Amino acid sequence: MAAKITPRNKDYSQWYIDIITQAKLADYSPVKGCMVIRPRGYALWENIQQTLDRMFKETGHSNAYFPLLIPEGFIKKEAEHVEGFSPELAVVTVGGGEQLEEPLVIRPTSETIIWGMYKKWIQSYRDLPLLINQWANVVRWEKRTRLFLRTTEFLWQEGHTAHATREEAHEETLKMLFVYQRFAEEFMALPVLTGQKSEAEKFAGALATYAIEAMMQDGKALQAGTSHDLGQNFAKAFDVTFQDKDGGLQYVWATSWGVSTRLVGALVMAHSDDKGLVIPPKLAPEEVIIVPIFKNENKAAVMEYAVRLYNELKEQYKVRLDDDEASSPGWKFAESELQGIPVRVEIGPREVEEKKLMLVRRDTGEKQAVDFNRAADTIKQLLEDIQHTLFHRALMFRKEHTHSLSAYADFKKIMENQAGFVEAGWCGDPTCEEKIKDETKATIRVLPMGREQHEHKTCIYCGKPSRSLAVFAKAY
Ligand SMILES: [Zn+2]
Repeated sequence: MAAKITPRNKDYSQWYIDIITQAKLADYSPVKGCMVIRPRGYALWENIQQTLDRMFKETGHSNAYFPLLIPEGFIKKEAEHVEGFSPELAVVTVGGGEQLEEPLVIRPTSETIIWGMYKKWIQSYRDLPLLINQWANVVRWEKRTRLFLRTTEFLWQEGHTAHATREEAHEETLKMLFVYQRFAEEFMALPVLTGQKSEAEKFAGALATYAIEAMMQDGKALQAGTSHDLGQNFAKAFDVTFQDKDGGLQYVWATSWGVSTRLVGALVMAHSDDKGLVIPPKLAPEEVIIVPIFKNENKAAVMEYAVRLYNELKEQYKVRLDDDEASSPGWKFAESELQGIPVRVEIGPREVEEKKLMLVRRDTGEKQAVDFNRAADTIKQLLEDIQHTLFHRALMFRKEHTHSLSAYADFKKIMENQAGFVEAGWCGDPTCEEKIKDETKATIRVLPMGREQHEHKTCIYCGKPSRSLAVFAKAY
């Protein structure tokens, strides 16, 4: 048989790694903590990237590229202005065989080098807003790594925008948060919570950090994207000012926002099953696979029929005809399930005779016989239905694993015995947040948006009046 995947309920962590490696999405690299993204994994990332890139451009952003190497002085400048900023840096000290005068840092994120350039590019209110995005790789020296979810080098996009007013920067921060939400829900079929991070969980350089958070199938949370309202911190660190309409000099307001190859891990963890990957059709590198089933005596007729179907579908769908004769149909079925191809078409002598074909959906395994001339239309409906079903399945799962609690004893029990989200009141005191984290390993994922009306009037830990609703969970 093709794959041997550890069942989810036996060992979720191993299940995840089995899927990534056996579906050939990624592999371990000679450098510890780095990963090789294989063609099938990269095809998924390309679909994610292309869709998001279109959405960024539709909202007025342009792409640019900044260097991988950043003078160490830039990072120090940032550290002076941003308390608690301590990225896990990789530093280059030798270049061309010679000791460098100033060490160069491999970018952990590009705020510093970008704001170093913005100082040159921004003089007047007419230069604003500046709406730039970069697709790049970054390096953070991680100790504990996991394929796609946390690796030393990863691919991402980082948007960096500059604005004339605080209000405009705040509006941009939320606009991009909602772009991420729309992408996650419409394309990844991944329901997400949106909201603000607590002080302890926010990016050190930000006034406020907003995030989208998704629930994985083990009930843990995964932060899938962040959008930061940076205030004037970077403008002050790099002395970026502009002349306003009245001739006065002001510091520029900033935002940054990013998602990474972590989204590939989220996609796998949210939808896949014990047979392998399950990929939402809108991001699937292949939507349809045709598997002909024949013996020598009917090979010609079956293949001719399969090719005819392939030609019928290829304009409209990303379709592959699996005509490899070295593998059995059973092996091909298992392989198409491992790869998560949304719709499989089976064609045998009987289908040829009856002018039909058998459609099998990857998400539910349901089979359906349809007439040849109904194939294209039925596949269209099926793909839409699979996309829809995956989203609702994930949404139902989140609802079933979200607990609204007011007693801390119940909170502890949930975190000990089963994972999931807990909605509870929080007084706003970081001490309560920290104690909860120490005692249960759960952190505040977000202070959810649109939930001002809620029944939790007291803090789940200390019992004082609650300042807001908080969603707690163990997280990746
Ligand atoms: Zn409290």
